[in-house]
Amino acid sequence: MTVAPLLDTDVVARHALAHDASHYLLLPEAVASPTDEAAVVAMLAEATRARRPLTFRSGGTSLSGQGQSESVLADVRTHFRRVEVLDRGERVRVGPGATLRQVNAHLLRHMRRLGPDPASEVACTIGGVIANNSSGMAAGIAENSYRTLESLRFVLPSGTVVDTGLEGADARLRREEPELHEGLLRLMRQVRDDAEAARVIRERFALKNTMGYGINSLLDFDTPAEVLAHLVVGSEGTLAFVSSAVFRTVPIQKHISTGLIVLPSLQAATAALPDVVGAGFATAELMDARSLTVAQQLAGAPQEILGIEVDSHAALLVEHRADEEETLAQKSADAAALADSLGLAAPFEMTTDGPRRTAMWTTRKGLYAAVAGARPAGSTALLEDVVVPVPELEATCQGLQGLFDRHGYDESVIFGHAKDGNIHFLLNERLGESQARLEAFTEDMAELVL
Ligand SMILES: Cc1cc2nc3c(=O)[nH]c(=O)nc-3n(C[C@H](O)[C@H](O)[C@H](O)COP(=O)(O)OP(=O)(O)OC[C@H]3O[C@@H](n4cnc5c(N)ncnc54)[C@H](O)[C@@H]3O)c2cc1C
Repeated sequence: MTVAPLLDTDVVARHALAHDASHYLLLPEAVASPTDEAAVVAMLAEATRARRPLTFRSGGTSLSGQGQSESVLADVRTHFRRVEVLDRGERVRVGPGATLRQVNAHLLRHMRRLGPDPASEVACTIGGVIANNSSGMAAGIAENSYRTLESLRFVLPSGTVVDTGLEGADARLRREEPELHEGLLRLMRQVRDDAEAARVIRERFALKNTMGYGINSLLDFDTPAEVLAHLVVGSEGTLAFVSSAVFRTVPIQKHISTGLIVLPSLQAATAALPDVVGAGFATAELMDARSLTVAQQLAGAPQEILGIEVDSHAALLVEHRADEEETLAQKSADAAALADSLGLAAPFEMTTDGPRRTAMWTTRKGLYAAVAGARPAGSTALLEDVVVPVPELEATCQGLQGLFDRHGYDESVIFGHAKDGNIHFLLNERLGESQARLEAFTEDMAELVL
């Protein structure tokens, strides 16, 4: 029997894993680095016996503190990095510690990639991408972790290993975890027999919604084992340890052009969105005036951004992708015609030039760290992540700006995946002082968005 790895209580080891990319900081009592699935099973058994919470931490790029703990923290990045390309890259079996960039590097020679494309792909890992149901700049809800997962191997807190890639997985779950199996069946029946519940679930998950558990799985899948695997997606490590996954990959289109649509205001940019989305761009990344100002200070920022005399401008970073050169040329021409009709504040061009495209994307991917880094000394940058239907984004952004003013949050920033109605905003707050302002803002924000 494998024994649980030794818990390391060394202060340096604990501090090294204490942070993630959020503003929270929890110092774990102990850390450990299990080397294989059996070691995780042993850790879970020990945690259950000692009634001691166990949290998994992988790439540590989460934005809401879900990779932190004041109890035991298990580093599951170091020892789970296997990547096995299947069917000429159409599928890939991956360990939870492999980063997205590593997996995509294996897939590149087959001109394939993973569906989820978070801006953190250089550091985030498969375990976190599954547990957060990551999406990204192009993935939306069609190519996110939930939709592109083919099968999942995971360990329940009881130590039971479920592998939906194996034949008879559901029968095995029924045999080994009868109560869980029956409970899942009951929940499936409950939502399927309730038309209003099913409607609300469908409506909520038609958006890029990662709030709570992915209960759309109760409608989308027909066996408790498949439902459970898809509940693990987005469960932030609370339901199971992800031990291995098989993903269906997506093709990399050979011909790509990228451009920056610069508009005079955030309102103009969000008002243009329904047309931009209707034009079928693969991405439409929104950057408000403050984002553009900060982006201009980044090393290697592209001329498209450096050339803007930023006042109240906003921009949409758009991209077209195609298999054929002629198709891309047509799409780029259509994009230019659309841009002309939008009342642009700067010249627009879709470019296929590699270095220029890379500069635009590197700047976009560096935006969160740069904007957070530009906060006033002594304050904390608080990131929020909201989603609304695309046609409502204009009113939502206006409402948010009104709330920033009303609550005195100067220099707040709005950016994000506007194609999917999903934006991030950053507030600078002095957390040592009263929380009253933040609480009042949060109440108003919830009212506005929900
Ligand atoms: C600059 C930046 C840009 C980002 N852009 C995006 C974006 O565009 N789209 C997006 O969706 N997200 C984005 N994120 C958020 C984050 O990077 C992703 O959600 C990412 O998938 C987290 O992966 P990770 O390996 O860092 O996970 P961690 O932060 O280490 O962990 C995430 C969660 O997964 C759990 N977990 C980790 N491994 C396992 C495992 N093996 N089994 C079970 N649970 C596990 C942890 O307990 C935790 O709850 C961004 C973050 C940053 C800093």
